[in-house]
Amino acid sequence: MNTNTCTISAINGFTDNYFWKISAGSQAVIVDPGDAKPLIADLIQHQQTLTAILITHHHADHIGGVNGLKDKYPCIVYGPSKEAQNVVEHSVTEHDRFQPQGLSETAEIIEVPGHTAGHISYYFPQLKALFCGDTLFAGGCGRIFEGTAAQMFHSLQKLARLPVDTRVYCAHEYTLSNLRFAITVEPHNKALQQRLKSVEKARANNQPTVPSTLGEELATNPFLRVNQTEIRQTAEAATGYMMHSDEETFAVIRKMKDSF
Ligand SMILES: [Zn+2]
Repeated sequence: MNTNTCTISAINGFTDNYFWKISAGSQAVIVDPGDAKPLIADLIQHQQTLTAILITHHHADHIGGVNGLKDKYPCIVYGPSKEAQNVVEHSVTEHDRFQPQGLSETAEIIEVPGHTAGHISYYFPQLKALFCGDTLFAGGCGRIFEGTAAQMFHSLQKLARLPVDTRVYCAHEYTLSNLRFAITVEPHNKALQQRLKSVEKARANNQPTVPSTLGEELATNPFLRVNQTEIRQTAEAATGYMMHSDEETFAVIRKMKDSF
């Protein structure tokens, strides 16, 4: 199976989740199946069998469908070594490279703690695709529930080093609210102004705004741009003190987003 026949599609779940399906002909791999029902319906509709499940982290809206899918398909569940152990059958960890059952493309594991302590991302260099769960979002980043701001900052920095044409398959349609926050942090960023406009249009027409590319994120996502003067000044104005590092700026704007 060559990469030309491998396609990635979204199955909508709950109110704003994306469950990603990597298809290789009649076989499919699902990333973060929060809910089995729409996924089984999709697989039946496309006459596909499920060969593997990839889990990024333990939250229910990412693993809730695993058991329902396992009941129907003899698939392997890959997931983090540090969490979701109730559903993960094959643990993967930083720098692991493997071919999920049913695919001929290789996934590389990038550990990205912060949103949860054991969160991982799956990077497929041949597909130019990154499945990053709730870590990097289009125009934003995940809330810090279990890790520290420093961990999240370094996790995002790791993702920022991938090729700029990498497509970012995050797990939620949060782009519009993310960009509405971003523009308050970096109002003079022209690329951001334009992206906000085009995302407003897309959402008004009920169109998805995911995946984006890493290049777009580097140009407009404030959480990847904390080294920019305007963002640092926003953080300093909000706190009333000087930022001493990009990491500190990151922590401040992440906190601002929590109450936006
Ligand atoms: Zn989550």
